[in-house]
Amino acid sequence: MADNKETIICPACGEEMEKIYFPDQKINLDICLKGCGGIFFDNRELEKFDEKHEDISILSDLFENKEFKKVDSSIQRECPVCGMKMVKNYASTKHEVEVDECYSCGGKFLDYGELEKIRSQYNTEEEKASDVIKELYSATGSYLPEFEEKYNQQMKRPSILTKMIRLKRK
Ligand SMILES: [Zn+2]
Ligand SMILES: [Zn+2]
Repeated sequence: MADNKETIICPACGEEMEKIYFPDQKINLDICLKGCGGIFFDNRELEKFDEKHEDISILSDLFENKEFKKVDSSIQRECPVCGMKMVKNYASTKHEVEVDECYSCGGKFLDYGELEKIRSQYNTEEEKASDVIKELYSATGSYLPEFEEKYNQQMKRPSILTKMIRLKRK
């Protein structure tokens, strides 16, 4: 995981982003406090913030009583670290929140309020896994081993998914 060190420019509104340190995660996030309230996550950082039990109270304090610039989240953005065009992907199978992703460095950008939305989608990791499996079954009608493989790599929690698939097979 490469924590970028330079000051970066917000891909949504062009303001300089500020580095804020999160001691629980031991990570600096780039946050657009002067502009739109967007957050840039370096490769693999988002997964340390996207579950309810992960502490983001610093963020709530920073955002309290602040008004942020409105931005058009449908516009294609460029990665503030490497300049590549970012790609919009849904954060989960619920298809509610779109995240801008850079396929070159793995960076992700969330608009203001999107992190909270992602965090509120699932109560537990099991719930999230169950949703992924449901979608998988409805899309293919059968179980694909490659998918389990891919999912395990992404989640880095093979035990939960494997356990659930075993249950389904019974
Ligand atoms: Zn911004
Ligand atoms: Zn990038």
